[in-house]
Amino acid sequence: MNYIGTRGFREPRTFAGALLDGLAPDGGLYVPETYPTPDFDLAAASAGDYGDLTEKLLTLFGVDVLGAEAVKKAAARTKAAFLNEAGQVPLVQVEDNLWILELFHGPTLAFKDMAMQMIAPLTDAALAQNGETLTLVTATSGDTGAAAVRAFAGSEHVRLVVFHPLGRVSPVQRLQMTTVEADNVLNIGVEGDFDDCQRMVKRLLGEESLKQNGLVSSVNSINWGRLLGQVPYYLAAAAASGADHPEFVVPTGNFGDAFAGWVGRKIGGNVGHIHAAVNRNDALAQAINTGHYVRHQAVETASVSMDVQAPSNFERLVFEASGRHAEGVKGLFDTFNATGKVFLSPDLQGALNAQVSASTISEGETKATIAYGYKKWNKVICPHTAVAVAAALKRGMGQSQPQIALATAHPAKFPDFVASALGFQPEVPEAIRALYGSKETITSIRNDEFAALEVVKAFQA
Ligand SMILES: *Cc1c(COP(=O)(O)O)cnc(C)c1O
Repeated sequence: MNYIGTRGFREPRTFAGALLDGLAPDGGLYVPETYPTPDFDLAAASAGDYGDLTEKLLTLFGVDVLGAEAVKKAAARTKAAFLNEAGQVPLVQVEDNLWILELFHGPTLAFKDMAMQMIAPLTDAALAQNGETLTLVTATSGDTGAAAVRAFAGSEHVRLVVFHPLGRVSPVQRLQMTTVEADNVLNIGVEGDFDDCQRMVKRLLGEESLKQNGLVSSVNSINWGRLLGQVPYYLAAAAASGADHPEFVVPTGNFGDAFAGWVGRKIGGNVGHIHAAVNRNDALAQAINTGHYVRHQAVETASVSMDVQAPSNFERLVFEASGRHAEGVKGLFDTFNATGKVFLSPDLQGALNAQVSASTISEGETKATIAYGYKKWNKVICPHTAVAVAAALKRGMGQSQPQIALATAHPAKFPDFVASALGFQPEVPEAIRALYGSKETITSIRNDEFAALEVVKAFQA
């Protein structure tokens, strides 16, 4: 089981190579050389233990090059982040034909935990195999950084550096990052905004002097390893619903989660159609629905983790929908990167739309859906979840297939918007309450790239 690139890279890479590379050498994304056919009873495994299911899927996708122990450990960690407090698959039925899959029972109460918890031990194992160390540098507006800190704290071969804009992440997000005591984690607060943090990270990733101390890379959602961590829950949720090929409605930003659902369907899982629900930053939905793929300035919405204008994983879907036409993919994304705009052929647009459909949900609909969910089901949902639920409700529950909407974060992570919809604050779980009063460790720096380089170098030494 090997991996190739979406823009023509054909020398097969193992899973370990794809995991440590992140991006493929052709500038595209890694995808499996061919999608594997399960050599086990997929339906039975989907209905069984989540750790076993994950282990089987990882092995199917070639993760066993890292050894059976690493696979086991990764599966156990993602299982711990998946199950709810009662130790069950967190699937809640709210209507005859509608379920909500709660993917926020991990350490930072958001779905990115599951993939991040899984790739941390796998990354460690890949580095141990090659006798290497890795410095991960990442910029965060909140959620990704927190999930990364919680996952990589204590990793033997990885140092993690997270830049966040001082005073511009929510208190909960900051505390989730800064109260972790681990020698291999460095939290840097920058006197600037998120774009300043991103600029610093870009600069550091190209900095030769950092590479003298091992590999340097970033934690981002184009990594095939992260994507793979999101496949098992589609299968487990579909099995737990008892429905025949339920459709999935996915709150979408970078399109990694929705594409993982597509993979679950592709390998023969009991997974129906995938629908991507986006907020006002809807370049993806426009591309799928009209064929016009245009990058605009991102605007801030309540579903802030979905404020993405050029979703990187869209390239994987284009690759598959075009019949794996690498040259076409390269041309298309070269043009998009240069001009911010491309027009897809009607054939390609039709093929994309047949694979994954998409719709745009407004801020008003998001807020109204939070109120509706509470009134109708006595359930408090976060703004990201509300985008998916709104899309599912609009698609019509009555006559359509059964649908499963993904709930990607705990409402207490976004208390202000939820309160504006409900008139009261969401209940704060113990995992958040416990953060207040814990000791914080944070290195503050000026908005200056040289200052950033200096602290990272000192941390590496
Ligand atoms: C990242 C994120 C999303 C979007 O997931 P993608 O894989 O980027 O499409 C949705 N909801 C929450 C809470 C997130 O953190």
